[in-house]
Amino acid sequence: MSELPQNLNNCFDPRTGLVPIAEAEQRVLDHVTQISDTEVLSLTRALGRVLARPIVSPINIPPHANSAMDGFAVAGTSLPDAGTRTFQIAGEALAGKPWKGTCEANQTVRVTTGAMMPTGTDTVVIQEDVQISHAEAIIGTGHKPYANVRLAGEDLSRDEVAVEAGLKVGPAELGVMASTGVGRVEVVRQPLAAVFSTGDELKNAGEPLEPGSIYDSNRYVLMGLLQNAGADVLNFGIVPDDEAATLSALSEISKSVDLIITSGGVSTGSADYVITALQKLGNVDLWRIAIRPGRPFAFGRIGEALFFGLPGNPVAVMVTFYRLVQPALRKLMGETNLNPVPVLKARAVTSFRKKPNRAEVYRAILSRDGEGNPIVSSTGLQGSGLLSSMSQANCFVLLDDEATTASPGDMVDVQPFEGLN
Ligand code: AMP
Ligand code: MG
Repeated sequence: MSELPQNLNNCFDPRTGLVPIAEAEQRVLDHVTQISDTEVLSLTRALGRVLARPIVSPINIPPHANSAMDGFAVAGTSLPDAGTRTFQIAGEALAGKPWKGTCEANQTVRVTTGAMMPTGTDTVVIQEDVQISHAEAIIGTGHKPYANVRLAGEDLSRDEVAVEAGLKVGPAELGVMASTGVGRVEVVRQPLAAVFSTGDELKNAGEPLEPGSIYDSNRYVLMGLLQNAGADVLNFGIVPDDEAATLSALSEISKSVDLIITSGGVSTGSADYVITALQKLGNVDLWRIAIRPGRPFAFGRIGEALFFGLPGNPVAVMVTFYRLVQPALRKLMGETNLNPVPVLKARAVTSFRKKPNRAEVYRAILSRDGEGNPIVSSTGLQGSGLLSSMSQANCFVLLDDEATTASPGDMVDVQPFEGLN
């Protein structure tokens, strides 16, 4: 079971027999199409979902000109050019309680922040700059017409697109949509993902460990990653290292989900059945990629379901998920901006050892030096089974295929974990 599936021999690097990561990323995306089903949700349930249609504001936001400060509203043309001018205080307007009269040139209306600008006024002089004597306000020079006023429609005007289709709804989008008065929105259906782990050595939490066995951690990592990415997850447990069991699990599950994610059993060992099962049931579009950790990765399709065969080592699971599964999920969920998570530069404090012709991803800690500049150090040993180092790290350091070992003092690419979820 060590030869490459037939249809793949056009995309690997002949030096390594592996597919370069950039090419793998592109190939996966090329095979994914957006889910076409949509559903209508109330705003309170729309967080993390992708808008299927743009939200067009039916109103100006703000709906009326209003004061940006606590102060006195006047006509800008009445402000004095020299000395002071005394205005009669005609009334008061509060947020939500407009003053109903018309303010004359020699009058002013006391306003609070958010109060609708009284008719006849277009300027607010902040209260600290106004001298009050009985029912009169004395205003001096130095005030500009139109100051401290928020204009109707200055945030969004009526019929303007408030939030574009294809955008994932975050807290800001929820607020923008709420400000338009829209209560329900049409979003792309959530993808349904199935997860199982492969391996005769795996036990579920609560079961006693036998000699040679370990607890299954990958499934929990994957359920967390998938939920954070916005998918609905079905947990299919542990499948033994057995071809018939792998075939029956995959053929059954593939009928009802958008994507299947497995871990382990995807190399060329004698107990690795995922690739053979995938070849029998569907297509292998990609297998074995030039990234460490993560090399034994497979991608394909079984019926309508996308298939991602992730490596067994837990850190490799996380790295390949972020690089290859997450962008695919974003496309599936209808996101139109698929720009990768931003990468920044930081000065290496430790070295990052690198072999040629493959990308390497290191777990690292990003912090700041005494001058506030970003610095990054390795978490230490980089074995792909050391899952606790993922929890200690707060970023990845990324060295691409052609890069050589980074030494202390070198500037390296850093991807903070904060941006990944
Ligand atoms: P494999 O690719 O199946 O040969 O697995 C590679 C390594 O990852 C082996 O040491 C496995 O025991 C380990 N591994 C595989 N699946 C899991 C899992 N679900 N949880 C934790 N470790 C795993
Ligand atoms: Mg295995």
